[in-house]
Amino acid sequence: KKRNPGQNEFVQAVQEVAEDIFDFIADKEDYHAQQILRRIAEPDRVVSFRVCWEDDAGNIRVQRGWRVQNNNAIGPYKGGIRFHPSVTESVLKFLAFEQTFKNALTGLPMGGGKGGSNFNPKGKSVREIMRFCQSFMTELYRHIGADVDVPAGDIGVGGREIGYMFGQYKRITGEFTGVLTGKGLEWGGSLIRTEATGYGAVYFLANMLAAKDRDLVGKTAVISGSGNVATHAAEKIVQLGGKVLTLSDSGGFIHDPDGITQQKIDWVKAHKTHRRGRIEDYVGEYKATTFVPGKTPWGVACDVALPCATQNELTGEDAKTLVANGCIAVSEGANMPTDLAGVHVFRAAKLMYAPGKAANAGGVAVSGLEMSQNSARRSWSEGELQQMLQDIMSGIHARCLTHGEQPGGYVDYVKGANIAGFKKVADAMLAFGVV
Ligand code: NDP
Repeated sequence: KKRNPGQNEFVQAVQEVAEDIFDFIADKEDYHAQQILRRIAEPDRVVSFRVCWEDDAGNIRVQRGWRVQNNNAIGPYKGGIRFHPSVTESVLKFLAFEQTFKNALTGLPMGGGKGGSNFNPKGKSVREIMRFCQSFMTELYRHIGADVDVPAGDIGVGGREIGYMFGQYKRITGEFTGVLTGKGLEWGGSLIRTEATGYGAVYFLANMLAAKDRDLVGKTAVISGSGNVATHAAEKIVQLGGKVLTLSDSGGFIHDPDGITQQKIDWVKAHKTHRRGRIEDYVGEYKATTFVPGKTPWGVACDVALPCATQNELTGEDAKTLVANGCIAVSEGANMPTDLAGVHVFRAAKLMYAPGKAANAGGVAVSGLEMSQNSARRSWSEGELQQMLQDIMSGIHARCLTHGEQPGGYVDYVKGANIAGFKKVADAMLAFGVV
């Protein structure tokens, strides 16, 4: 806390990981002597820069941009770019720190990074977004590269924004390389990247249930968010026989007791992404449904819950409500959606609880596969990639079991993910000496 004053999200993320790592390294002298945990918790560098752009009315606007390069012990820095007014250096440092463990867990050679800006894309015209992306890349391009740092999308950054940034990178450098992932299929993108995070979170959930001889058929699911991760998680739940009851956005949540079917999910996707609409409009489209303004959906009784919106959207009280309502499993599509108190409730209740760094790693995993395809200048088929995603999620699940299985059959997935991710990065750092 003293080293990072005011950076609450970052301190929270480090604290959560350190709780598990202290136990694991207690008898491992090398990790202590080499100060590995301290070194992982200090980003390699934080680049902060001014992003200046002109709005449609001709006003000059100034935003701040960042790229946090946390650790490249096992591969080039890799992690998304977020455009949202809530972005601060603390938020990006926490995300880059988490990303380091997540990327290690995938088994692919990727280090951890994250970037973004406090720019608010809401209400901006397409031209304004393009100008902002170009200006952002005009500084960022000197810090990234296909073998150096490979950013991707995140909140507020989808295929359109990646396109504008890739175009600008190409214009400045004259190079067509795999410097960004989440690209369009015509210009180096990978099939199933869009679906991968949400699908992966549900595959992970299915793996947890299967380990207890259960499946998703007939299970009710409460999902938050209505963006990329939430809608694809909903889609996979429906495909595997479950029933989705809720979706949300920053305005509140909708509850559909009949279940949000594929056709309804398609409407949400079109409404939120293409029409840039609000989730509350769902109740005008589908009868016998309700919109609850300003609230998160955790009070709706369910078998499984998937927080897929943003950090700290599920509190200790929410966690208690979910447990009291009989929820058996939680799979985090978002990054750190459950606050520390909530994590403690889930772990104490011993329900199946998959932290984001394990459950939502499918997105970055397919990004890693996009990098491989770009390097080899080829593309794999949808079937091959679907299979690879499923295998990677099963692999992450198995790595979590290795370090997370507790006496009595309970699996502490948080501990398993933290230790497995840490060990891989730490062992690489040991090999490099003091650098
Ligand atoms: P999108 O921008 O597509 O969607 C974000 C959703 O969350 C929207 O419904 C948005 O509502 C809601 N939301 C955002 N901020 C808040 C807030 N402060 N309070 C309430 N709701 C909020 O982003 P993604 O779906 O891509 O990302 C969601 C989460 O998943 C993030 O935590 C991200 O880091 C994580 N993630 C994403 C990956 C990916 O591949 N996309 C990979 C791994 C993790 P509104 O429309 O009102 O803003």
